[in-house]
Amino acid sequence: MERFYPIGIPGQPWTDDDRQAWFDAQTIQRSYHDEVVTSLDALDDAFEVSAYGSLPIDPDRYRLFAVTVSSSKPEAPWALITGGVHGYETSGVQGALRFLHTEAVTYQDQLNLLVAPCVSPWGYEVINRWNPNALDPNRSFYHDSPSEEAAALMAMIKGRAIDFLVHMDLHETTDSDETEFRPAVAARDGETYEPGLIPDGFYTVGDSENPMPLFQAAIIAGVEPVTHIAPPDDDGQIIGADITQPGVINYPCVELGLCAGMTNARFTTTTEVYPDSPRATDEICINAQVAAVKAGLDFSLAAASG
Ligand SMILES: [Zn+2]
Repeated sequence: MERFYPIGIPGQPWTDDDRQAWFDAQTIQRSYHDEVVTSLDALDDAFEVSAYGSLPIDPDRYRLFAVTVSSSKPEAPWALITGGVHGYETSGVQGALRFLHTEAVTYQDQLNLLVAPCVSPWGYEVINRWNPNALDPNRSFYHDSPSEEAAALMAMIKGRAIDFLVHMDLHETTDSDETEFRPAVAARDGETYEPGLIPDGFYTVGDSENPMPLFQAAIIAGVEPVTHIAPPDDDGQIIGADITQPGVINYPCVELGLCAGMTNARFTTTTEVYPDSPRATDEICINAQVAAVKAGLDFSLAAASG
């Protein structure tokens, strides 16, 4: 097999030494404290920030934070918003924070919010998809998860015993998915690497077991004024899955161990912003996440009261 990734022996799954070599190649490129924690410290009094764990690689540096409403309303439904499950997907983190600093307060009479803005802070700092053990947190949402990021979030959610109406998990699809992360996962697992196409634009991933097409359509309509929606490829697909409507594909979220499958929420989605488009900027990507959250929450609230 031809070499397509610098670590390991092509065709053979990585050894512990290979994983260590991968870990040793990672470098800190930005500050979780400066870009995330200080933003949480500056939140409005309507919100309360609490730590729900920390990453063992450096517990002081990588404390895990959730934001909730300071006083919850017993009659109002709950919404869960997660960002940074993939730490390198910047607008997922910064979009969740921007929502908290701008629009979130307008929902306080109708909705109880729980937001985990940066589930994978080490990944945020090293700008990588995986956690320190070369695991993808967004394939690790299952019982006894080996990903500390996924396990801590699931334990926090379970402990709160909330019935969520809606869960939105904020992500990006990047050019580095094709140049780095898809080759890395094939190399790690001893498989061949099949090149794929990165779609130019925003899309959502619904749950094939609970697709909620009108909810997904409402999110697409909400994001469209902010950034362009990804067209399907010549096979009618986005990242290898058939589109079910413009800008929407479905995955079996629970079976794949995706964060979006971690609750029994009636409405769930994974947003996918494309930051590498010549037509996108960092600011557009953040605004697209905020628009997606607003559209998803508005649709869910209308459905719950209707
Ligand atoms: Zn992602």
